[in-house]
Amino acid sequence: MLTGRVAVVGGSIAGCAAALAAARAGAGEVVVFERAAGGLADRGIGLAVHEQRYAELEAAGHLGPAVPWVRLTSRSWIVRAAGSRAGRRVGALPFGFRSYNWGSLWSALRARIPSSVGYERGTAVERVLPGPDGAVLRLAGGREERFDLVIGADGYRSAVRAATRDAAVPGYAGYLAWRGALPEEELPGPAGAWAREEAATVAFPGGHMIVYRIPGPGGTGTSANWVFYTAPADPAHALSVDDAAGLPPSRVPETLTAHHRTVVDAHFPPYWQEVVRRTPKDATYVQPVYDLCVPRYGEGRLVLVGDAAAVARPHCGSGAVKALQDATVLERCLAGAGSWAEAVAAYDAARTPAGRAVVGLGRRLGRAQVQAAPAWAAMDQPALEAWWRRASEGGGTFGGQALDGGRRD
Ligand SMILES: Cc1cc2nc3c(=O)[nH]c(=O)nc-3n(C[C@H](O)[C@H](O)[C@H](O)COP(=O)(O)OP(=O)(O)OC[C@H]3O[C@@H](n4cnc5c(N)ncnc54)[C@H](O)[C@@H]3O)c2cc1C
Repeated sequence: MLTGRVAVVGGSIAGCAAALAAARAGAGEVVVFERAAGGLADRGIGLAVHEQRYAELEAAGHLGPAVPWVRLTSRSWIVRAAGSRAGRRVGALPFGFRSYNWGSLWSALRARIPSSVGYERGTAVERVLPGPDGAVLRLAGGREERFDLVIGADGYRSAVRAATRDAAVPGYAGYLAWRGALPEEELPGPAGAWAREEAATVAFPGGHMIVYRIPGPGGTGTSANWVFYTAPADPAHALSVDDAAGLPPSRVPETLTAHHRTVVDAHFPPYWQEVVRRTPKDATYVQPVYDLCVPRYGEGRLVLVGDAAAVARPHCGSGAVKALQDATVLERCLAGAGSWAEAVAAYDAARTPAGRAVVGLGRRLGRAQVQAAPAWAAMDQPALEAWWRRASEGGGTFGGQALDGGRRD
């Protein structure tokens, strides 16, 4: 058992799970450094976890039935059609996911961290100084601490990743994601126009919007969580990757807002136009879509988990799953190794290919659904099935790969 000091940089989804993993693997001391001073639970909107990945992560002790969730069973593709308020359904595919409110999921993961683990809020790691038998963290205010292992769970602009030899940087995908959440009671009528377990995809030339219900804030009620993908009208209007965490409405340039409005007006069926228009401005934000994949998940005494290591485009439905799987595998590697070097090498070998596969899938799904979107209106059910098969084949699995690398049925 490796009983030294372990630091976790970042206390979001990956950081909470990695801290639990390191503590359960037997580390002598585990400390989480989280830059944000307040709780994270009031930020974020919704995410989805594939049912089979959920089962594996429940068995691994990261997820449980107590966190509020909504069952989703199918995903439909809808296009605007004359005379139809809700639009015409092109077809539907199975969609076996659980949806979560990001804040509730994070709170549950935070609550699982044992009290022996330190969680320092409002503490940014400014620099990571790797050495042959550990790494020193330079914290805001000048404090320095040495650790036997540093786990980088600090998201897409990771300071831990920046200290590795091949520090990868995020690459802009060429289009944007608008996100919003509308409380169920604000949904336009008629009631029942949209089935409770259905993820609806409003498809239009050059993009789509996926909408599914998520538990409301604090687990009360439900909200319609939507994500709208399209390229800006002019490539010069792209956002910077520095804005990848999302811009609030007050900071979104009017050129982008106007384009969003134009697409909704021109291509959405009336029911779905209202869903977007009724969403309160303060419950929306926009972010550039980008991807990132490191050549190595572990180097020396540094390991990367979650978005610090790999960011797949959101179409894969696997951002949180991948982070929790990273923590699960890290726990096994730490518990089963005779040395830190052995643990880091085993983790790197297991997770680097998994990260690469999901990023590749995200690129293919982004191309199929946004950058080279088909003529949706001309499709029928068999054409939709064939298109999706082609879009999703070639490595990586929609909803996340099985934890032990096996294919899902
Ligand atoms: C507040 C918040 C809300 C989110 N909401 C959603 C959502 O609604 N839907 C969705 O699909 N995804 C959301 N995400 C992204 C999602 O959590 C990730 O894509 C995925 O789950 C992997 O999480 P992660 O922990 O690797 O990265 P992140 O969730 O990005 O967490 C990285 C953490 O590291 C901290 N950090 C960064 N740099 C430093 C530093 N130098 N020192 C100390 N701490 C540092 C950040 O403050 C952050 O808490 C959200 C992320 C955050 C932080």
